[in-house]
Amino acid sequence: KKVNVALGDRAYDIFVGPGLIANAGAYLKPLLRRNRVAIVTDETVGKLHLPALEKSLDANGIRHSAIKLPAGESTKSFAQLEKLTDWLLGEGIERGDLVIALGGGVIGDLTGFAASILRRGVDFAQIPTTLLSQVDSSVGGKTGINTRQGKNLAGAFHQPRLVLADTDALATLPMREFLAGYAEVVKYGLIGDRDFFEWLEVNLDRLKEGDVEARIHAIVKSCEAKAAIVAADEREGGVRALLNLGHTFGHALEAATGFSNRLVHGEGVSIGMALAFELSARLGFCTGQDAARVRQHLARAGLPSRLSDIEGPLPDADGLIALMGQDKKVVDGTLTFILARGIGDAFITRDVDPGRLRALLREREPA
Ligand code: NAD
Ligand code: ZN
Repeated sequence: KKVNVALGDRAYDIFVGPGLIANAGAYLKPLLRRNRVAIVTDETVGKLHLPALEKSLDANGIRHSAIKLPAGESTKSFAQLEKLTDWLLGEGIERGDLVIALGGGVIGDLTGFAASILRRGVDFAQIPTTLLSQVDSSVGGKTGINTRQGKNLAGAFHQPRLVLADTDALATLPMREFLAGYAEVVKYGLIGDRDFFEWLEVNLDRLKEGDVEARIHAIVKSCEAKAAIVAADEREGGVRALLNLGHTFGHALEAATGFSNRLVHGEGVSIGMALAFELSARLGFCTGQDAARVRQHLARAGLPSRLSDIEGPLPDADGLIALMGQDKKVVDGTLTFILARGIGDAFITRDVDPGRLRALLREREPA
């Protein structure tokens, strides 16, 4: 299956299916000016999936070298960026050569950013190996690293030439990481596609059990949804903000838990989406039934969906609101919210009564 991201002369294809890493050489070969690639991965993915990629490159006569960086968010740093650019230049990577990101969003974001600055821009391809990176970070061309001031504060728009989303890679992914990506899948249904959300309700168990056809469908639908939004608004001047559904709340919760293992990104987004629907219902935009249905689906998937699902202490409502204000999406000190008129009908507003927001966050148990 294939999704095209329609961005004019920067358009590219996302292939989705099994066996893509094992056949990567054949997909990559047409993009190469000389038969040479540099692979960037992390220690974990390098152990699990690099050998199959290298084998496929060998079979296609493509020369390759690889660097394995430490796994984890802290790799999205200036220090690792410098190490990576040094290595790529040392390997003699020139314009016309291809850099391959093999891994999750961390490797994709860092490698894409390095590719964007190396010799003022070299080509890169993504082989995303987490569900989150397959449905989210490999679509849209945002690349970057974290700085001491916060997440993703240094970066560039740099579109990949090709994305290979191999469903086989998900077989080794821990369930918690799978579910974190699944929260973003649910998000696409909630933003603009009620039928897809209902399909997810029916097919949740198949997806979790690893049914390949179901997983392909969910990934393709998600990539199509994000690709359509990105094609309409590549630089986030308007509709792209819809993709932040659940993220203003989610980001505050991640910050409140110190960006630690207590709450990973997708888990924060899950609670954030449930809160966004709860707030939408209380403000009279959507029905209480829809809000309950969203929360129940997330909970049934195994995701946290209430503030009380977070273990340990949390800041109070005002503390959380202050953390929401530190989100980089804040303009002139006004919070932007993504609310919904119903499942599949999200909209952007900057007009939310602070009192209602405080009341929502004061309860550790939204109805
Ligand atoms: P990640 O890259 O850290 O991967 C999560 C963990 O899973 C890592 O420990 C990794 O080694 C491991 N892993 C990866 N693939 C595996 C596999 N197939 N089997 C077993 N283990 C595997 O994190 P992520 O969740 O993929 O991505 C999160 C990052 O993505 C964040 O930095 C976030 O800012 C970024 N992001 C970027 C965009 C964008 O538009 N660029 C969008 C969303 C998120
Ligand atoms: Zn997200």
